[in-house]
Amino acid sequence: MRKTVKNLNKLYASAFEKMEKMSKFLSKNCVDHALDFHYGHRIKIGKQFTNEFYPIPLVRFKLKGIKTETFFDVYTNKNYIGYIKLYPNKEEILSLNLEVFASLKYLIYGYNYQQELYNSEDLKETKNNIEKSKDTRFIIYADFENLEQIFSMVEIFIIKPSQRFSIANYKCDCGHYVTIDAYNGACPICRKDSPFKRKYKAKCPVCGTNCLKDQYGNGECQNCDWKLDKYANKFKDRVIYPNLISLNKAKKLYSEGKPFEPDLEDFIEALYVYSEVQFKYKNIYYELILASNENKEIIKMNDFNGGHLQTFKTKEDFINNAKIDDKLLKDIWEETTERDWLQ
Ligand SMILES: [Zn+2]
Ligand SMILES: [Zn+2]
Repeated sequence: MRKTVKNLNKLYASAFEKMEKMSKFLSKNCVDHALDFHYGHRIKIGKQFTNEFYPIPLVRFKLKGIKTETFFDVYTNKNYIGYIKLYPNKEEILSLNLEVFASLKYLIYGYNYQQELYNSEDLKETKNNIEKSKDTRFIIYADFENLEQIFSMVEIFIIKPSQRFSIANYKCDCGHYVTIDAYNGACPICRKDSPFKRKYKAKCPVCGTNCLKDQYGNGECQNCDWKLDKYANKFKDRVIYPNLISLNKAKKLYSEGKPFEPDLEDFIEALYVYSEVQFKYKNIYYELILASNENKEIIKMNDFNGGHLQTFKTKEDFINNAKIDDKLLKDIWEETTERDWLQ
């Protein structure tokens, strides 16, 4: 038993060392990132997964805005020390140069339908499959055999900031150890602002309470929860990310003592702003996706279990005909909860 523990310690120490190197590499390249654990990884011997589960360290960050995770496995061999996963949406994956992954043995599959879309012979075929896929989100998965391999791949996608990166290292309230740009940073996992973030005084445009904003004009009012946004101040009747209602509507609701919840019209406006929104009804999450079909915008409604429910030609078509459980969405909108941008 003691010997097993000793061996296991050695294996974990080696995985942690690689994770640390990855973290240093990302810091050097000014990429915000967080250290985390992935629980329930299965032991892979050769190409075969066994049934034993164990935790492995990972580093989370974003590449070109795409959620990315690198996992450092404990059980390694000369061709494998870990794997990388990227979670792009359709637009993002179609804009990526997939040839960058060619040196790695990679797989692409749809997030919901788990259908493999990769064709190693023909990159064009892969893109075709992605375009035709019913999935809106995808996973790019690749094993790697050494750190250099992953560094050179990641480096291609890194967008370096124009200003120098002053590093903040700390444990976020969400429990992750993060390394981020001290002045602008937010935790890459929970998006909470870094305690070191540079702040300026501001007044909430909705309730008038004193609050703080960052150099981009973003912040949150502690009194009414309005998310400060310079565009919302300019276009007061429009729904603009990150708020799901317009500034003028927020003022009205605040004066009536009502919560800042979007009605169906606001929600559709948000969809047209961001292309992806979600809500919950009777314990099931639904997503609305703004897609294009022969250069025309259409709205797709899916549930999170991978079911595609309905497609709508126009906004009006959606408002008048969207149904869940045979009930019109417009009639049950008040019963929906967790209306939000797609998370
Ligand atoms: Zn956090
Ligand atoms: Zn306020």
